[in-house]
Amino acid sequence: MLDRSDNIPALPPQIARRRTFAIISHPDAGKTTLTEKFLLYGGAIQMAGQVRAKGEARRTRSDFMQMEKDRGISVSASAMSFDFGEYRFNLVDTPGHSDFSEDTYRTLTAVDAAVMVIDGAKGVESQTQKLFEVCRLRDLPILTFCNKMDRESRDTFEIIDEIQENLAIDVTPASWPIGRGRDFLGCYDILNDRLELMDRADRNKVAETVRLEGLDDPKMAEHIPADMLETLREEVEMARELLPKFDQQALLDGTLTPIWFGSAINSFGVKELMDGIGNFGPQPQPQRAEPRQIMPDENKVTGFVFKVQANMDPKHRDRVAFVRLASGHFKRGMKLTHVRTKKPMAVSNPVLFLASDRELAEEAWAGDIMGIPNHGQLRIGDTLTEGEALKVSGIPSFAPELLQNCRAGDPMKAKHLDKALMQFAEEGAAKVFRPMIGSGFIVGVVGALQFEVLASRIELEYGLPVRFEPSQFTSARWVHGSQDKVDAFANANKGHMALDNDDDMVFLTRLQWDIDRVERDYPDLTLSATKEMM
Ligand code: GDP
Repeated sequence: MLDRSDNIPALPPQIARRRTFAIISHPDAGKTTLTEKFLLYGGAIQMAGQVRAKGEARRTRSDFMQMEKDRGISVSASAMSFDFGEYRFNLVDTPGHSDFSEDTYRTLTAVDAAVMVIDGAKGVESQTQKLFEVCRLRDLPILTFCNKMDRESRDTFEIIDEIQENLAIDVTPASWPIGRGRDFLGCYDILNDRLELMDRADRNKVAETVRLEGLDDPKMAEHIPADMLETLREEVEMARELLPKFDQQALLDGTLTPIWFGSAINSFGVKELMDGIGNFGPQPQPQRAEPRQIMPDENKVTGFVFKVQANMDPKHRDRVAFVRLASGHFKRGMKLTHVRTKKPMAVSNPVLFLASDRELAEEAWAGDIMGIPNHGQLRIGDTLTEGEALKVSGIPSFAPELLQNCRAGDPMKAKHLDKALMQFAEEGAAKVFRPMIGSGFIVGVVGALQFEVLASRIELEYGLPVRFEPSQFTSARWVHGSQDKVDAFANANKGHMALDNDDDMVFLTRLQWDIDRVERDYPDLTLSATKEMM
């Protein structure tokens, strides 16, 4: 998704109306509550509370999910589609915990924009900052929602300054809060010259809106006490003088973020944010691929896998590959080509993640996310086309930051462990390395919590207790070079060599010094900390 140039011809209406985005936030800022309100306004659920209730039901399915619940984190990403006015929203959920940043990174390759939720009392928190940086790498447009304005929050200018400074992005207020905490009355909608008043009595009611003729409209005084009105006028005037003006192109370029103030739990400010996503957010964007970029309005269907989730239902060893459609109009039953294996694949039972439940997708358009159940053929990074040998690029695999040996509790079951680990490797949940010397596996992850998740999933899904033990290695680097050079290097360093789950050669070490040495002694080889998913 690059080249957001102005000369892209207008997209067909079915594609142009799609908005595919993710919500990023620090845990507790209100992502779940906001998601729920999105679904409520999207008509996907009838009353608030259903997302959580549904989540609970799903989570009780396994202890692994129990763990997720206990720790209050979300380790699995899912997608939800719903209509809002003329728009079709595709909301892709991202895992919030920092240990799952690789998964999050890949999820963000499948969206065209991100909504950043911050807590009005806490401002930019660590996880928001990290996720923001990932969005920045891809120049994703970002819309900001400052939540929990019904509670004591920070000064509005201070919040905006903090975002501008910490995240190095211009911020323009789309709305301006009136009063704070207990005295919070609502917002002045700067983009539309409207007054939006929060109803504290009914949390599911959309705010009352008063049309105004600018800040000096006498109607304001009917709703806002004189002292607060004076403050509002001063602040908005100051904001208009000091802060950048709204500029859709700057939003689409990822250099400016509009900020809405609200309270998700009180359903306040949410609809305005959704209007913002619809009216100003990006349409499905071109997709980077080799040997050429894919445009969303191409007639032929292309898509790529950005996530694989195995064992969503432990009774069936099914896997669901999450596919982002990059172009075309997909219809159920279509035969697509699985480019990596060059094999045809009839996509007869795709799932559109309509918020109500998993539903069979009859059709999908560029920008949509669909789930394709499969038995393991589809891997992260795979491209599907109508025949052309295109390969979507830019979906990276990161070198793990933590390595541990993994052993089956019962040595007789080592074969099963092989299978389980390969599955998680293909799912993208871990890197699995088979050392050239000796037996067993070395498992690499980005965050320590992933070892625990893996151990409990292997036990649950494969009935196999496993032990993770410290490894003598701490870093892994993929080795690139001509085959003979790589082989010679591997032979001279057998004790450090392993193959990953794609049989690519990896150099394991515990010292940066070692990596530097190899780079010095083997100028024909490169060691890299990322590789593109095949
Ligand atoms: P997540 O961890 O980002 O998904 O956050 P949740 O949506 O679960 O919200 C965290 C907590 O903040 C919950 O107890 C919510 O009820 C509460 N919360 C969410 N939005 C608001 C809000 O606008 N005002 C107040 N006072 N609390 C909120």
